[in-house]
Amino acid sequence: MADSSYCIKVVCRVRPLNGKEKAAGNSFVVGFPTTNVVTVGNKTFQYDSVLRHDSTQEQVYTATAQPLVKDVLSGYNATIFAYGQTSSGKTHTMEGDLDDVNTRGIIPRIIYDLFDQIYEMDSNLEFHIKVSYFELYMEKVRDLLDITKVNLPIHENKQKVPYVKGVTERFVTIPEEVLATIEEGKSNRHVSVTNMNAHSSRSHAIFLISIKQVHKETQKTLTGKLFLVDLAGSEKVEKTNAQGLTLDEAKTINKSLLALSNVISKLSEGSKSHIPYRDSKLTRVLQESLGGNARTTLIICCSPSGSNESETKGTLLFGERAK
Ligand code: ADP
Ligand code: MG
Repeated sequence: MADSSYCIKVVCRVRPLNGKEKAAGNSFVVGFPTTNVVTVGNKTFQYDSVLRHDSTQEQVYTATAQPLVKDVLSGYNATIFAYGQTSSGKTHTMEGDLDDVNTRGIIPRIIYDLFDQIYEMDSNLEFHIKVSYFELYMEKVRDLLDITKVNLPIHENKQKVPYVKGVTERFVTIPEEVLATIEEGKSNRHVSVTNMNAHSSRSHAIFLISIKQVHKETQKTLTGKLFLVDLAGSEKVEKTNAQGLTLDEAKTINKSLLALSNVISKLSEGSKSHIPYRDSKLTRVLQESLGGNARTTLIICCSPSGSNESETKGTLLFGERAK
């Protein structure tokens, strides 16, 4: 254990074999010898928790995001990432079916939980909840709630905390408004690109929920921010022709994922020295929600198929490096 108060949790989720993989006769190459261990070939990896291919969306939520809701309402910042190659289940994990109670993913579950907990809290508290939704593509910040904003700058506030200047902020008062905002962002993302699947594998999608509590009598405030990040596909450059990624796109993605890995591993080592947040826009934008008192959960998403074995190993190693 590193001598550090920094708190990162790494959770591995393995999806089932899909129809195409079964039809191709690909075998299931991932093993689950104990509850928090995964094997691939002769390699063994251990995480804070492992969610097998038969886990429900609810089990995934409980193991990853649920504890963070209380933290954010206590004024902590938090980030949840989904990392993995294209079609490993990142979007299924983060979003799932937004409007289906059983198959909805982490983001809609957080939203309902958050409002439920707020309704239970001290009636002397006033809540101001706002959301932003943007993506990082080729190191450019694009606002998903206003498609005219295609290259927003990152500035620092007086406390030297970076933020996306000019990004749309929507105030929301009920869960349905938040879900409608996500749908809006998703449809904006669709209109601006010709191939949505290819595009979503090339860009990082970031949904930010910011909750400010104001005490009606004392006027004391408390703010917690939660960043929910569906990362770009982590597949290696050689394989990316199949995904339609250009070399430039793949290089940009690899660079930002490497920067993320470096930042997280420095933080979890308890490093007091320079943390290289400035190496990518991704780590810049998330700076206030990584490190310090922030809570971080990394969900590494894996395919179980023999055809993806080397990518799966790469993903498992990324998760190992984060601890
Ligand atoms: P990614 O976002 O990593 O590219 P997706 O989440 O879009 O991958 O998943 C690819 C496909 O596999 C989707 O059709 C999704 O519904 C399905 N899928 C992913 N994970 C699971 C799972 N755990 N159970 C059932 N289907 C899944
Ligand atoms: Mg996706």
